[in-house]
Amino acid sequence: MSNPDAKRELAALIDAKARIFTDASDSIWGYAETRFDLKKSAGLLIAALESEGFHVERGAAGMEHAFVASYGQDGPVIGILAEYDALSNLSQVCDATEKQPLEADGNGHGCGHNALGAGALAAAVGLKDFLAKSRNGAGATIKFFGCPAEESGSGKAFMARDGVFDGTDIMLTWHPWTETRIWGVSSLANYQVYFNFKGVSAHAAAAPEMGRSALDAAELMSVGVNYLREHIIQDARIHYAYTNAGGASPNVVQPNASVLYFIRAPKSSQVRPIFERVTDIAKGAALMTGTKVEIEWDSACAEYIVNDTLARTMHENMRELGELKYSADELDYARKYVATLPEENAKNVAALIKKSFPDIGQGQADAMASEPVQGELFPYAMSDEAMKGSTDVGDASWIAPTAQALVTCYPTGTVSHSWQWVASGKSPIARKGLIYAGKAMAMTALDVIDDPSIAEKAKQEHLERLGGERYHCAIPKDVTPR
Ligand SMILES: [Zn+2]
Repeated sequence: MSNPDAKRELAALIDAKARIFTDASDSIWGYAETRFDLKKSAGLLIAALESEGFHVERGAAGMEHAFVASYGQDGPVIGILAEYDALSNLSQVCDATEKQPLEADGNGHGCGHNALGAGALAAAVGLKDFLAKSRNGAGATIKFFGCPAEESGSGKAFMARDGVFDGTDIMLTWHPWTETRIWGVSSLANYQVYFNFKGVSAHAAAAPEMGRSALDAAELMSVGVNYLREHIIQDARIHYAYTNAGGASPNVVQPNASVLYFIRAPKSSQVRPIFERVTDIAKGAALMTGTKVEIEWDSACAEYIVNDTLARTMHENMRELGELKYSADELDYARKYVATLPEENAKNVAALIKKSFPDIGQGQADAMASEPVQGELFPYAMSDEAMKGSTDVGDASWIAPTAQALVTCYPTGTVSHSWQWVASGKSPIARKGLIYAGKAMAMTALDVIDDPSIAEKAKQEHLERLGGERYHCAIPKDVTPR
């Protein structure tokens, strides 16, 4: 552990530039760009990093708005992961307390990646300022990874596949949330693949015998996959959406149909054989209908590899930072959003709190759940369970030991990908959260810089958790981001 005075100095350096980071978050909220199309959001972060003396390499892994910003040349390589993509159909008036789109079908920051990227910026710049001021700029190499398309595009998987994260000693990141704690669970590995069926069109009444229906094939594939579900591991998940059902005319034998499948399981090695069986079913459906099927990869991500060593180090720093405190105005602000939620949310929050704080009774859990914002640091907990979702942070976590914090940025009980998150994404609560996250990551990095045994232990644990396996990106080499 580094000495507390050094940490205080580091935190003060982040506070001194807080406005730069919160303004970055607010601006990216306004840009609300999605997937790989992130010109303004990436541009803003790149400009900020360059003006702080970072050297920026653009176009990482062939993606225009992926980048690596580096500072320093010696010591451990500290990776900081940043995201800045929004979600479609979540446009929302800022601070409104009802669903109110800014523009029809517009995008919105429903997952808080505006704050995520800005918090990562705070960590990188704060750490750089500390090294520049107290260590003549020496002692570590900071690498800020600008990662596009976390929301379903798996930008980090493409970056991992192309070796962008190689050579990193530790990886740090965070996610804006409704509570503050270490992310101590794995996530599901996920393959995202289109099955495109091609048939022959014909008049469905006059000459159906001339037609070969791609839509029939897609439907038969769904039937086949429904039968498959009984014979795969319980923890796997297969879901699909028709992205092209051929057309709106029933009197045409549909010559084209496409279905996008997500195939998930706790480990990539479990997804692979299920994917192969789904592929066989698609081929079978094509054979049955006299159509052809083409398999088109969208993306994939690996499961998240937790690292107890690094997570504990980060948790200790969050303990040093103490609880997040809110003014009466901030509490009132949050209360307005809590009032928009169904009543059972409070019960769910109380149950989560009860589970997270093993020593408290139901009354205390209910009382905490009734707070409009959760400022307290939740106890450290790590489990081998996988949360029922996927993230491309998983791919980065295969390359280097990774720690991830969740930090309160939103009112109690609100959920990600909701209009409430978009509406409150520029609130003082979100701004406070991103600064806290920046400090937690920078302080953890400083511990790793000052005590090489942390990274050594984290690496040893990382190797053990991988059990001799090496990172293999599920996305085939010739597939480029869509
Ligand atoms: Zn997210």
